[in-house]
Amino acid sequence: MTIIDSPRLLPKVDDLLRDPRLDAFRESMGHVPVRDALREILEAARQRLLQTEDQPGRHPDLIYLDQVLSAGRKDQPESALTSHLLILALLRKLEEESRPGIRKVINATGAILHTNLGRAPLARQALAAVKQLSEGYSSLEFDLETNQRGQRTSSIEALIRRLFDVESAIVVNNNAAAVMLALSALCRGREVIVSRGELVEIGGRFRVPEIMEESGAVLREVGTTNKTHILDYERAVNEETAALMKVHRSNFSQTGFVGEAGVKELADLAHNQGLPLIYDLGSGCFSEDLAALLAGEPTVAKAIGSGADVICFSGDKLLGGPQAGIIIGKSQYIDVMRSHPLMRAFRCDKMALAALEATLVLYQDPDLARASIPILRMALTDRDALRDRIRDLALRLQDLSVPAAAVPSKLIMGGGSAPEIEIPSWALEIDPQKTRLSAASLEARLRAFDPPILCRTSRDVLLFDLRTVTEEEERILLFALADVCSKEEDPL
Ligand SMILES: *Cc1c(COP(=O)(O)O)cnc(C)c1O
Repeated sequence: MTIIDSPRLLPKVDDLLRDPRLDAFRESMGHVPVRDALREILEAARQRLLQTEDQPGRHPDLIYLDQVLSAGRKDQPESALTSHLLILALLRKLEEESRPGIRKVINATGAILHTNLGRAPLARQALAAVKQLSEGYSSLEFDLETNQRGQRTSSIEALIRRLFDVESAIVVNNNAAAVMLALSALCRGREVIVSRGELVEIGGRFRVPEIMEESGAVLREVGTTNKTHILDYERAVNEETAALMKVHRSNFSQTGFVGEAGVKELADLAHNQGLPLIYDLGSGCFSEDLAALLAGEPTVAKAIGSGADVICFSGDKLLGGPQAGIIIGKSQYIDVMRSHPLMRAFRCDKMALAALEATLVLYQDPDLARASIPILRMALTDRDALRDRIRDLALRLQDLSVPAAAVPSKLIMGGGSAPEIEIPSWALEIDPQKTRLSAASLEARLRAFDPPILCRTSRDVLLFDLRTVTEEEERILLFALADVCSKEEDPL
């Protein structure tokens, strides 16, 4: 019996734990999980050693264990080698165990704002602000001039008032909270008139009728699914009416025999009756360039110009900032919302406020915004430059025997915005017919890559949009495709 064949002679836990390669894990996850993982590895090794040679163990965590054993079998029982291989198995196990639940992914799906992939990536300036404000203390609720308690959102609100020339602004946790707050504070126990064509579901359980009910406001539906006239609203106004409400159809569109009342006529009607018009704008597009690209997507400036009294929108959709809900409009209404008890429940944390303020600052200079805010930069990427970049990558991939080509494609904005708009674009196409894998298994292997790479499949080819892929991610993509495309289907 060689040393390695004897379970008793496996290296000792304490000796192995001294290996400096474990230091990083000890620092990030603590000693106990590292020791426990090692015990599991050793226990599995012991079990494996107790089995006869022709019953190969198949413990998935122990990819290196067979090497450990074959090292022993060759009658070269070097305990240093055994230790090394056990540590490698341990490092692999710890790597997997220490992966966060939410992981970085490479988004090559072509959807710039993907709700399931965290919506808008943040600008470098926003990240710097988050880091600076969260690694130490900040004047979050402290007024440095008066040496008194301050308002956490006062500076950001002043910035929003300046940017849009509005009387008042508040910032909450997300747009769903913004709408809930507006309805609870301004309409509780009274009627809110909404078109039947705008009783929408945004996703993640946000449904206008349900939010309305939860807020204590009474929904007064008017018109039909496809057509609602200003007269329908006018007829519905009575002494119980608290507000008129307009909801942007963010994630779907209607065509054919359709019609709706415009924001301007609704605002005029509301004002004639002494009522506010609440406008759930959804995406909150700030950039004129982006609005031009997404023909038809209303901008915040346009919503203000049309006379709406309370306008709500998201921070992490077309604005390109962190998750937040922004409410702007007339002081007479916004002040009531600001002092409502729900305001405390819906408040933003300091990281989101730091990121939002830094993002909004960029909008003071449209060129700076275009260059720095990732979703603007991606959406407004020059198409010819994108095609050249993809052709270049395709050539490098072909050199690595990957069947790649640059093909015309469509870009979608995503994230519940501009549903009908498909922007002409270019994509990298991989044809699985020319590999030994099916489209489904190529896609699955890329999704299992570290970091996971997400693409889309269309008629059995894989498409990768590079607008949303950074230069560094492109190198990972190249490596992953070369690796994955060289593989064969697993035997059943
Ligand atoms: C996205 C959206 C919401 C929800 O906004 P969140 O920021 O995701 O909470 C509400 N209303 C409309 C019209 C939307 O498009």
